[in-house]
Amino acid sequence: MDRRTFIKRGSALVALTGALGATGDAAQSQENLPEAPFDTGQVVDGKLRFGSEGSLIEGGAPFGGPPNQDPPDKRIGFAVLGLGRLATENIMPAFGRVKHAKLTALISGTPEKARVLAAQYGMPEKQIYGYGDFDRIQNDSSIQAIYVVTPNALHREEVLKCAAAGKHVLCEKPMATSSAEAADMVRACAQANRKLMIAYRMQYQPHARELARMVRSGELGTMKAISGFFGQNMGDPAQWRMHKSLAGGGALYDIGIYCLNGTRFTLGEEPVEINARIVTNLNDPRFKEVEESVYWTMLFPSGVMATLSTSYALHSTMHFGAHGDRGLAYLQNAFGYSGQRLFLDNTANGRHAVAEISQGEPDQFATELDHFALCIRNDVKPRTPGEEGLQDMKLIEAIYQSAASGQTVKLPRVEGLDPTRGPKPMAN
Ligand code: NDP
Repeated sequence: MDRRTFIKRGSALVALTGALGATGDAAQSQENLPEAPFDTGQVVDGKLRFGSEGSLIEGGAPFGGPPNQDPPDKRIGFAVLGLGRLATENIMPAFGRVKHAKLTALISGTPEKARVLAAQYGMPEKQIYGYGDFDRIQNDSSIQAIYVVTPNALHREEVLKCAAAGKHVLCEKPMATSSAEAADMVRACAQANRKLMIAYRMQYQPHARELARMVRSGELGTMKAISGFFGQNMGDPAQWRMHKSLAGGGALYDIGIYCLNGTRFTLGEEPVEINARIVTNLNDPRFKEVEESVYWTMLFPSGVMATLSTSYALHSTMHFGAHGDRGLAYLQNAFGYSGQRLFLDNTANGRHAVAEISQGEPDQFATELDHFALCIRNDVKPRTPGEEGLQDMKLIEAIYQSAASGQTVKLPRVEGLDPTRGPKPMAN
């Protein structure tokens, strides 16, 4: 009996058993199941494919299917450095969804935690390293790239160590705590001929990318303004984010950077003027060292004005909008790990309409890891290289400078689009 016949007979038997007491006619109808095609998938060039992908639903929408997976020996091996919340709750699980990367080592200052995690991911204990083990990490050929996920002030030293050990580096945002540190990191990776990518996951997120495409294609008419707000209420005042020496600054460094980078990547332009105000409740014990809220505007060469806000002291707020003279496109939950929604509000054929534009929702961390893996394998500059993070550091410094002086800070005009980015991400 072939497999398909077996499956069909099996399902008929289950239905029969479940229908105890049913009439012989019901049993008879199960025997007459139609010969519907079973889609059990095919292995093509070592990759699993389902031919029916997207074709079973109206419009053939891309509903996913299995990853276009590479065999282990073709994947880029990653070590994760710093096993905190983001690493353990989001990044490590994403290795279950990647297509071109694999998790091969852990680098941690907390061996007991690392051992638990290594066991969970089926990794031998010899693949656990401490921060002082770079001589051994250097010789571990299973590690081609290291993902740095520690507090911001530690990024510079760690990236320099990774580059010196001959490893490519994916570094969390904010890249560093100053533009001088960021410039060191770019230089060190260039000198070591290693790639450096900053983990700006929004630039790989489909809804945000579609909004940027609408803006750049002129679908919203002439662009006039960008608006964005990322705020949240911080808890424990003792956490590293509330200490300037580890965080670099407050809301702006940690979450305001999404509004800043999101605006730059949506427009592709660099600002020529910045004006900022900082508002901090100094009686709040959370804000002894870092700022609470920052409100700033950025003027771009095309005349677009961005009005951006960030705060560590209000109910969770994550929205981002692009305002043209013929349409408004806006993202709800713009900066979340998932759950983005994109809306287009315009007037077409004399009628005002608001439409939701649906997009796939792949795991943002898996998408980012796969992008970097493909950049390494194909020797391509990442879309968000070190230079992209360095530019944000310079602009953050300009924002603080404007807030401190009460003056508008003028910046050199930069020609062309996307001057700090690599080529658009390739399909993976
Ligand atoms: P956590 O505090 O949860 O974890 C940081 C980890 O870094 C610790 O668990 C520890 O790992 C290691 N570490 C090393 N030295 C120190 C130190 N002196 N103090 C504290 N931790 C130390 O931070 P997050 O995971 O939330 O953030 C890490 C980075 O990721 C930051 O740069 C942050 O901005 C970024 N981030 C990015 C997000 C995104 O969406 N892209 C979201 C959240 C954070 P170990 O015990 O293994 O040594």
